Parts: sequence; structure tokens; C-alpha cells
Amino acid sequence: MAFESLTARLSEAFRRLRGRGRLTEADVDQALREIRLALLEADVSVKVVRPLIGRIREKAVGAEILKSLNPAQQVVKIVYDELVDLLGGTLAELNLARRPAVILMVGLQGAGKTTTAGKLARHLAGRGKKPLLVAADVTRPAAVTQLEVLGRSIDVPVHLPGALTDPVAIAEAGLARARAEERDVVIVDTAGRLHIDAALMAELEAVKAAVRPDEILLVVDAMTGQEAVAVAERFHAALTLTGVILTKLDGDTRGGAALSVKAATGVPIKFAATGERLDALEPFYPDRMASRILGMGDVLTLIEKAQAEVDEQKARELERKLRRAEWTLTDFLDQLRQLKKMGPLEELLKMIPGVGARLGQIQVDEKQLARLEAIILSMTPEERERPEIINYSRRKRIAAGSGTTVADVNRLLKQFEEARKLMKQMAKMGGKKGKGPRGF
Ligand code: GDP
Repeated sequence: MAFESLTARLSEAFRRLRGRGRLTEADVDQALREIRLALLEADVSVKVVRPLIGRIREKAVGAEILKSLNPAQQVVKIVYDELVDLLGGTLAELNLARRPAVILMVGLQGAGKTTTAGKLARHLAGRGKKPLLVAADVTRPAAVTQLEVLGRSIDVPVHLPGALTDPVAIAEAGLARARAEERDVVIVDTAGRLHIDAALMAELEAVKAAVRPDEILLVVDAMTGQEAVAVAERFHAALTLTGVILTKLDGDTRGGAALSVKAATGVPIKFAATGERLDALEPFYPDRMASRILGMGDVLTLIEKAQAEVDEQKARELERKLRRAEWTLTDFLDQLRQLKKMGPLEELLKMIPGVGARLGQIQVDEKQLARLEAIILSMTPEERERPEIINYSRRKRIAAGSGTTVADVNRLLKQFEEARKLMKQMAKMGGKKGKGPRGF
């Protein structure tokens, strides 16, 4: 999967910062050196890395200390913010206001242009659009048939060249048909080449002049690394691209292309393709991609929410208890209440790395919260601190006291045990000394 090694390297750099109460300048320098290396190894362009590291350093040194984040978390947050910026900031949507809107798909042969044209048509059809695919790639012999088959499988009409051999004429005919049939998006698959050459660019410029596209999307293979950036620069210089679609992000790629293309060309990445199947196309969300690269689930969202909602002291106390495995039912209750303030519990738990997959076993249903609360409140303080002493007769008493059943009490104790195990695991994951969920 793309970004795996980058993610591993960055996590390592952050791991070393963890557990430090205060970061010295040397700590920051060391972390920045590692972040720089990790990015370069992931094939991110030097031109991009240098200013990026400069910005991170500036922010890290001048950072206003946010009370609820420890220094390592702050560095993560700064790197994250910079990555989001680098990836384009926010989702760049297609401009499909005109009817029919015209999308020109361009790119080198093998990048996945034809496949992606099909995926895009499917994506748009799924959003209520009526696309028409136009097969104007007459250079690669199989491309027309390929698009025809794709179109059939997704139930989108494909305009075939027929007797025409001139891509400009084919594109014009396709556009005329789209008008006549009231399709609202025309996706033109154009010719690719193995390498960029003047003839290809001349052909694409002619097609562009004829159909005046609203979008010119360059399809680039993320696996080609820096080459992808060079390709994007050349196409952009000749055609003025409106967007990039990165393909093969599912492959064994170091992912650097994704991080460099926008920064190097200024052209936003609009979609990412992650597989050969026709549903493997997603709008490109810079923030989601950045957290994926950092390998932290949506832990940053969690940090932000925690920043806003959780009482700092309580959180520190909790972290200390987790470290010492002193987590009790009282804390459990407390934490459930804190979480409730922050939004739907499951959403929150899912954001903690490693928890999402195990959610099924924990099942914190918000509607049950009141009952859980009642059960815990019916326990003696000693029982809350040491749940292992709760034998059968105690369970009966607690059930009666809280208006629940012994089965409910059992379930709660089991959930608590599960959660405690998970907490211990997370504490271990956080390094030798260990950290709670806030220390990840
Ligand atoms: P074109 O020459 O640019 O039109 O390329 P094609 O659309 O024919 O794609 C070339 C090859 O890449 C085909 O085997 C596709 O199935 C494959 N491909 C396209 N997109 C992706 C992707 O996102 N992931 C993977 N793994 N393969 C892809």
C-alpha cells in the first residue's frame, strides 16, 4: 500500500519525541532530520521537502504551547497541517456547471487513463449525472474496445469513432451527440504515448481547442514517483491542466508523487484511484490523505476534539492511571461521560488507532449509557476501584440497586475488562513507559 514506509518512518520519528515533557531544540532538530529523510526516501521532491521542513521548524520553534497537547503531539499536528497544505488544503471539486460539461482525460500510455475515464463516468453517474464517454484514443489499438466494454459494464453510453480517425473530429462528434441526447457530462478519452512528444501535445491542443473542455484531467501513475511530477509539469505547460488524477495508489508505491505534484505544479489532485476495479476511485481529500500518511487514523481529529472538550487535569490523571494500569470503573464512568460530551461514542472510539477493528467487542451504545451509569453508581467505592471483588451476591445487590439485571451487570463488567485490556495494550504500544490514548 502506498505510503507504508513513509508512515513507518514518520511514526518512528514521532515515537522518539513521545514521553518527553519538554522538547529541546536538539530534539526538534533530530525529529526534523528524520522527517526530511523519510520524505526524501518516499520520493518526495527535494524542491518540496526543503521549504516544507523550513516551515515545520519555524512553527515548531515558535509554536504557542497548546495546554492540552504534549510537545510531541504538537509537532505531529504541525507536520499534519503542513502535509494537508502540501496536498492542496481542501477537496478540489470538478467544475461541471456547464451542460454538457466537457472533461478531457489526458496522460501517458499505461497510466490508467482509459480505466479512469470509466471509473469517473461511474462515479458521476452515481451522483445523478448523465455522462457520455467518447473514445478518441485512436493510437492504442485496444483502447476503443476497452472503453466500449467499460461503458457497457457501467451502463454509460460510449461514443465510438466509427469511420473517423481524427481525434478532433471524433471529439466534436461526441460533443454533438451529447448535446442531442442531453447528456450532461462528456468524458473524452484521448490518446496516450509512452513518452511525451510534440505530436501528442499538438494533437491534445487541437482537441482542446475544438471542444473547449471545462476540465483537463491528467491521469498519472503514482508508482512512477518523480517521473509523475515531471510528466505533470510538461502536460501543464502545454495544456493548462485543471486537475490531476493519481492512479495505482494501491500499489507498492512510496507515494512521494502524491505529495509533490500539487506543490510542484499548483494543479490540484482531484481524485485518487486505488485499484483496478471500477469502484476504486475516490475524491481526493487532502486532510484524509495526510492522516493516512501519518498513520494515525483520525487521531488528529481526536486531538482537536480533546483540545476543545476534555478537562486537561482529568486527562492527565487518566493518562497517569493508564500508565500504572490503575484504571477503574470510576474512571470508566468518568470517561464515558467525557466522551459523551464529545460526540457519538463509536465515532470517537473508531478514531483511536487500533480500536476501530475491536469496536464490535466493546459495544458502547450511547443509549445504554444511563444504565451503565446507574450500575456503576450502585457499586460501593471499593467495588468501583477493585471490580474483581464483585462476586455473585454483590452482582445481585448491584442489579437490584440500579434497576437492572445480573446479566446487565455481568455485561458491564465484561466490557470494562475488555476496555481495560485494550487500554493496557495501547499503553504498551505507546512505548516502554507507556501512554494513554492521548499520548498515542
Ligand atoms: P491507459 O493506457 O492510460 O489508458 O491505461 P489503462 O486504463 O489501460 O490502464 C493500464 C493498466 O493499469 C490496466 O491494467 C489497468 O487495469 C491498470 N490500472 C489502472 N488504474 C489502476 C489503479 O488505480 N490501480 C491498479 N492496481 N491498477 C490500475
